[in-house]
Amino acid sequence: MDTRALRNPYPDFDGSPELTQSLFDAHGKLTSAFAQRLNSKIDELLAVMENGLKTAEKKDCTTYTGWAGIALLYLHMHRIFNQPAFLQKALEHVGRSLKCLTRRHDVTFLCGDTGPLAVAAAVYHRLQRPGEADECIRRLLQYQQTVVKGSGGMPDELLYGRVGYLYSLIFINQQLGTDRIPLQHIQQISEAILASGEHLSRKFHVQNQSPLMYEWYNEQYVGAAHGLAGIYYYLMQSGFVAGEENVRRVVKPSVDYVCHLKFPSGNYPPCVGDGRDLLVHWCHGSPGVIYMLLQAHKVFGDSQYLEDALQCGEVVWRWGLLKKGYGLCHGAAGNAYTFLALYRQTQDPKHLYRACMFADWCMNYGSHGCRTPDTPFSLLEGMAGTIYFLADLLQPMQARFPAFEV
Ligand SMILES: [Zn+2]
Repeated sequence: MDTRALRNPYPDFDGSPELTQSLFDAHGKLTSAFAQRLNSKIDELLAVMENGLKTAEKKDCTTYTGWAGIALLYLHMHRIFNQPAFLQKALEHVGRSLKCLTRRHDVTFLCGDTGPLAVAAAVYHRLQRPGEADECIRRLLQYQQTVVKGSGGMPDELLYGRVGYLYSLIFINQQLGTDRIPLQHIQQISEAILASGEHLSRKFHVQNQSPLMYEWYNEQYVGAAHGLAGIYYYLMQSGFVAGEENVRRVVKPSVDYVCHLKFPSGNYPPCVGDGRDLLVHWCHGSPGVIYMLLQAHKVFGDSQYLEDALQCGEVVWRWGLLKKGYGLCHGAAGNAYTFLALYRQTQDPKHLYRACMFADWCMNYGSHGCRTPDTPFSLLEGMAGTIYFLADLLQPMQARFPAFEV
């Protein structure tokens, strides 16, 4: 891990007020000076991003690297700053996205066509254009049966599989009101995910250790983006799986199986059976697994889950300033959401302090000799994601990892 991260130059939290008083008060409210610093950096980076997007790939509709991701950033900015110009920007970018949908079988929020449709529905809803919002939702729900049946060997993971479609439904409910997509739709997808996981667990003869198992391209991935932890995070959300006893009987032991994969460092492998402790990314490793652990602690109450989650925080603090840069999927901004998740659950100012230090790192964008990502201005790999995080830090209790956290 030392070869992939830069040394964390910041002093760790020691409880002394000198470290935090310029950042936030006793209730976790940011000081006006620090908020001001975030705001001016956000403005500066937005201008750089807009300029950079002039040469971006014109035909990428996706949330991960394309126009829907930029639209999602502006939708987020509009919620936080309440400036109509941001909503207009969101409309403009989602319009570009809808013009170049993949029209493949990709069904997910991040890499498929349901992300653009869901983001468009949210933008139209905010613009009070209900007819157009309804039309987007109607088109989105046309994928429901394809996803349930899973024809063509559809995976279950977040980037290309069933939970990536499930997130589109959740996003609609978050943005348009909780009952916009009936719970039965969500439960139908969850049931298909459970059936698929039980089938694979039997196929690999691991029923006794893990009643559920999933794979993507013949590998049993562990992390949030392609793996078990990302899938279980959704299966543990309230009401997503019908019947609490099912969650306890099937999901809990499967979560415990992931817990057993923990390295001595507190990090997690990218795949089951991979002994190399190298990756500290949201997509692979503890910065993504933590969401499963925190949700398991909320649902089942066992203190071990919280202890493991706190250990994820230590791993990210030590090895989370990545040479890969400042993005969300595998960068410092995405890793910083680990601390925000811990802060929300524990209210311990240590975690908010650490998030602020990672924000400081991000505000020195480009000065650490990090690698430039393939899509340098995109939401999940590039600058749009960094801006998204800096804006989220202004309201730490409301912050959520975009396109993933419920
Ligand atoms: Zn990644």
